[in-house]
Amino acid sequence: MKNVLLTVAGFDPSSGAGATLDLRVFNHFGFYGLAVLTAITIQNSFQVYGFKPLSAELILEQYRKLKADFKLAGIKVGMLGSRKAISAVEEIVSDNNNLPVVIDPVFRSSSGQWLLEKKYIQKYLQSIRGKITLLTPNLNEASLILGEKIDTVEDMEQAARRISQLTRSACLLKGGHLMDKVVDVFYDGHQIHLFKKKKLPAEVHGTGCFLSSTILCFLAEGLPLTEACKKASMTIHRFLHSPLLLGHRPLFDL
Ligand code: PLP
Repeated sequence: MKNVLLTVAGFDPSSGAGATLDLRVFNHFGFYGLAVLTAITIQNSFQVYGFKPLSAELILEQYRKLKADFKLAGIKVGMLGSRKAISAVEEIVSDNNNLPVVIDPVFRSSSGQWLLEKKYIQKYLQSIRGKITLLTPNLNEASLILGEKIDTVEDMEQAARRISQLTRSACLLKGGHLMDKVVDVFYDGHQIHLFKKKKLPAEVHGTGCFLSSTILCFLAEGLPLTEACKKASMTIHRFLHSPLLLGHRPLFDL
């Protein structure tokens, strides 16, 4: 029997990121995927042009009807879009504190569009504090959370520890944007783990979404958190080697 995973995320009509990509990832790893949308975006493979956030009631109505029908094995949260989604996501994660919950703190697209305004970041983190398994910021998101620049692997280790204290969860700080090498820094609440990789030239659309939903799949398969993060970090590297070239920017081939 297939297990069921839920993504709470924005809709990307290009299927390169957001809920559509998450569903493709869940399906790829043998899960049945459900999606609660937080916003409808206007975008193609290389740019987010804008979006319309959905109300907290609409987000929660989608969730409640699914929850009444399906037994969930885990939840991933991506783009929120607006302040309204914060309380809805808080309710959803509080309702599932026995499940693995992976949150990708999506604040800004690579093309520069804010997907959650900066002034709501601290409120969002407070609302999920102690209720989630893992937060997966990239360097820019970690800098926004802590209000400081992160330049070196040592900075990343400090930042992962501090973010973990803020959220009371584990933290996987993605180093994809460091200049010379790629090191993902994982802090499990006790210990730092470094996942080192070679830097790849391709900037594939939706890498954050791909990584967080892949980690959730591995957790739902029963892997311990450190193993799930390490395996996902290696898996994404493999996929980045052979992206789909259909639009102007490479896409994940699943
Ligand atoms: N659109 C949605 C719905 C997203 O969730 C994200 C990132 O998580 C993006 C767009 C931005 O993706 P990228 O930074 O790869 O352009």
